[in-house]
Amino acid sequence: MEANASRVVLHVAGPGLATPKVVDPDAPLLLADDLGAVRGDGCFDSLLLHRGRALKPLRHLARISRSARMLEIDPPGEQEWTAGIEAAEAEWVRIHGGDTVSAPDALLRLVLTRGAEHAAGRADDATAYITVAAIGTHVAKVRREGIAVQVQQRGFSVDLAANAPWQLLGAKTLSYATNMAALRHAAADGFGDVLFLSSEGEVLEGPRSTIVAVRDGALLSPPQEIGILEGTTLGALGEAAQRRGIPLRREHLLLSDLLVADSVWFISSITLAARVVRIDSHEIGGRDAGIDVGALVAEAVGVENWPG
Ligand code: PLP
Repeated sequence: MEANASRVVLHVAGPGLATPKVVDPDAPLLLADDLGAVRGDGCFDSLLLHRGRALKPLRHLARISRSARMLEIDPPGEQEWTAGIEAAEAEWVRIHGGDTVSAPDALLRLVLTRGAEHAAGRADDATAYITVAAIGTHVAKVRREGIAVQVQQRGFSVDLAANAPWQLLGAKTLSYATNMAALRHAAADGFGDVLFLSSEGEVLEGPRSTIVAVRDGALLSPPQEIGILEGTTLGALGEAAQRRGIPLRREHLLLSDLLVADSVWFISSITLAARVVRIDSHEIGGRDAGIDVGALVAEAVGVENWPG
């Protein structure tokens, strides 16, 4: 295996770049004044690379172009991104011996920034690149064992997304510093994840996941308009559920709704699904969990051997 076998970097768009190009993962890629680096001014999307193939790419491409529109950044077209994803997949498989089955599962990240500050953020100077890196073993543990989550205040009302579009709620911007700080805060208190509540006490989302509750044979998840990111995993889950006649309802949920649910899940592209075993000090799941959301998500996105 080569020295850089654990990472792939692909430059997709930037000044003077004609086609996507695999670059040395140890070499610098961004200019020091790239607005993504200095202001978090850009967006990203994270895909699971499983057996050498990025899962549900069209859902992620639709979301990153929506994020880019909200940020008013001119993104690479679907064809450019797709060529980049295919080149990244091929490179990942190549550096792992050419065998898709033995290539480890990885996080493939699409990144788009407004470009360098000295170029005054000209639309055609946006920076776009893709990174691929193996996912840690903690993901498998969380899929198998579930998570305890800490309730935290997000500090905004469910009206904010509609009243203040410049807040970019619903875009997957590069400004994830507070999300990561929330996770560190929870980890310091012994929790594996965070459940954000709005200022009215409505259930929002996790810093990296969509929340789904199972109750009386139905799936419940908060609506996007309250200021959360629309999950691609939720989209895929909804279609799989529909095929089986399981209703998925987008409903305003309170913490008390989660505490009486049959089961509660955090779902996302990389972890896929983690069953919530405790919310603060409340144990969840003393009863029949109802629908196995983990198995349904795995089926929906095309991952075999759940939970692995
Ligand atoms: N909500 C937030 C804030 C996220 O960062 C993510 C992960 O990208 C999600 C929800 C779940 O989205 P997806 O299912 O597309 O991974």
